[in-house]
Amino acid sequence: MSDNHLPTAELQALDAAHHMHPFTDGYELAQKGARIITKANGVWLTDSEGEEILDAMAGLWCVNIGYGREELAEVAARQMKQLPYYNTFFQTSHVPAIMLAKKLAELAPGDLNHVFFNGSGSDSNDTNLRMVRHYWALKGQPERFNVIARWNGYHGSTMGSGSLGGMRGIHAQGGLPIPGIHHIDQPDWWSEGGEMSPEDFGLQRAQELEKKILELGPETVAAFIAEPVQGAGGVIVPPETYWPEIQRIVDKYDILMIVDEVITGFGRTGNWFGCETMGITPYIMTCAKGITSGYIPLGASLVSDRIAEVINGSEFAHGYTYAGHPVACAVALENIRLLEEEGIVERAGKEIAPYLKAKWEALTDHPLVGEAKIVGLMGSIALTPDKASRAPFKAPAGSVGVICRERCFANNLVMRHVGDRMVISPPLTITKAEVDMLIERARTSLDETFERIK
Ligand code: PLP
Repeated sequence: MSDNHLPTAELQALDAAHHMHPFTDGYELAQKGARIITKANGVWLTDSEGEEILDAMAGLWCVNIGYGREELAEVAARQMKQLPYYNTFFQTSHVPAIMLAKKLAELAPGDLNHVFFNGSGSDSNDTNLRMVRHYWALKGQPERFNVIARWNGYHGSTMGSGSLGGMRGIHAQGGLPIPGIHHIDQPDWWSEGGEMSPEDFGLQRAQELEKKILELGPETVAAFIAEPVQGAGGVIVPPETYWPEIQRIVDKYDILMIVDEVITGFGRTGNWFGCETMGITPYIMTCAKGITSGYIPLGASLVSDRIAEVINGSEFAHGYTYAGHPVACAVALENIRLLEEEGIVERAGKEIAPYLKAKWEALTDHPLVGEAKIVGLMGSIALTPDKASRAPFKAPAGSVGVICRERCFANNLVMRHVGDRMVISPPLTITKAEVDMLIERARTSLDETFERIK
């Protein structure tokens, strides 16, 4: 493809005039101008000025296989020529959806043997929300309507998924949350653990689930939804005591556990799925992003035998036009084939993750860095003015994170900030030499941030 395009300033002006950006302050964007990405390969982005940027976020946590895999483009083109579109409504099906559903059932742990396709992570969680409520209605318990989620969790930005998420900034716009969604506190020891040990804090936060179930009445609770490791909330890795206690509680009250693996799926945590890393047994698993490595949109709800048997007993009045799109399914199949056959997930977990972990955790020797957390290839560092007391910076929260992100970007490193936490989630194909560059650029950016806030 040609590199010819309009000059950057012209593209930026057009962008500001006509293009509304998600999760972006449009006024600020218009002042600064967007950085325009024109191509990518491996872990490297190229912008319209020809600068090469190390993408330590794999786009939006999704390009697990790395950029530039021609095999995926070729499969997409072949599928477009053969069957560019058909749906799976009203008693029809197609080969890519069938083969991908079979493959996902094989890959997924436990008895997640059934797949309901969607178009994205958000609408997958909307599917899950309707499915669990409908399941209980079909079981003769329609009062099981409440769903419990967590503050600072992220499950998407539609009405349903945005309500399930616990982002107050999202709830503040557009009348969310919808009825029947309840939130408990997150297991973020660094910010909220006070004087407690991480272990005691993890247990306490898990037990909030039991309290909430008892407060609502166990007979009214349909499901609990959570990410194995919160991603958009700042890569919050829960204390080891957290998940076993959550599992005990959902089992005790027969609450359906939905594990949102939109980020953690497809190798991100060092195993194929985050619930394997964290030891969780879900009834439904949400997938998107890494399922196609972001090359094309696709979401999927992986559903256990128990739920599918009931839902499949009559018509579930739900579905999206582009769900299980044949081109997306074909790309997903090829993506999974490459991740498997090239041993990408295995190598990321066994070779790259420990290498990255050692270097990432060593960042705590920097004066700005409090804790450093990492699981597989998703990590975070907490920036703080005082490590001993785990103090936050003075308000407004996130202002130091913004400076650090801007320094990273200026140093040609994409590292995102969540408040005053910096997060990474690079392609699983990153090499050790690229990990070294990532850390070197992160250190330079931290030094520059430190200088600026002195
Ligand atoms: N769930 C989680 C855990 C996510 O991180 C995201 C997106 O970042 C979503 C759901 C929403 O997915 P999408 O943006 O594809 O709608």
